[in-house]
Amino acid sequence: MRRILIILIIVAVTVSALFIGRNFFVPKKSVSNRLQISTSFYPLYFFTKEIAGDKADVYNITPAGAEPHDYELTTQDLARIEDGSLLVLNGKRLESWGVKIKEVLSGTGTKVVTAGEIGQTADDPHVWLDPVLAKSEVEAIKNGLVLVDSANASYYESNAANLIARLENLDVEFRNGLLNCQKKDFITTHAAFGYLAGEYGLTQVAISGLSPDEEPSAEKLAGVADFARKNQVKYIFFENLLSPKLAETIALESGAQTLVLNPLEGLSDDEIKNGKNYFTEMKNNLANFKTALVCR
Ligand SMILES: [Zn+2]
Repeated sequence: MRRILIILIIVAVTVSALFIGRNFFVPKKSVSNRLQISTSFYPLYFFTKEIAGDKADVYNITPAGAEPHDYELTTQDLARIEDGSLLVLNGKRLESWGVKIKEVLSGTGTKVVTAGEIGQTADDPHVWLDPVLAKSEVEAIKNGLVLVDSANASYYESNAANLIARLENLDVEFRNGLLNCQKKDFITTHAAFGYLAGEYGLTQVAISGLSPDEEPSAEKLAGVADFARKNQVKYIFFENLLSPKLAETIALESGAQTLVLNPLEGLSDDEIKNGKNYFTEMKNNLANFKTALVCR
């Protein structure tokens, strides 16, 4: 009898903890009168914050320092999304939970913008790394904001125009910076820079696939190392969110050095605190491209 009682108490405490947890950790709309928006990962969070300014609270789903390709939605994320007026996704399978959430939200009060599904592009989600395609993402996010909050349409239009002008400057910097380079081929960890390479006439050689969890085979590694040796590639790029091991292996085998190339798939809290953002990291990428490709 006593044992049953203890079990009943444990069950009761666990169940109530679950309910209390949900109410405690998930702020409802009433916490703030401002518009509530969720974004799936860092670049969309950054763009949305720049456009929304002081008119909305923007919540980023993929936690700082996590990889968006393999992040899975928690029940708290889901509650947060459902409480908001707008969810900004990239699409093209960047978010493993993207298709499902669209079904869940269809017909509800939460609108969804899939900012990375840009007409002419390939089956590759990494549009934010090409400043030209990033402008289309900004446009799509702005349209989503106007849809859910038309009263502030001109405010969003003006912030978006500002952001697009900054992306146009970034495009000019990349175009000029990569104009006179001795090399065109670069070796990177996962295939995130295909659109950027296409935009500026470079060739990407990726060690793993479109998603970092597509592990390369031994043959693939040997092939990339061989390519590095034959083409006298001086630097192998690694990523801030992934282990540098693959890049180090190729570098060791081909006599190259390693250098970071940030696919902007997430910044740590410290990086954001230290003033890093989409633009500072893209400019750092350009500087590292110029080193690796021996540009004048
Ligand atoms: Zn990626």
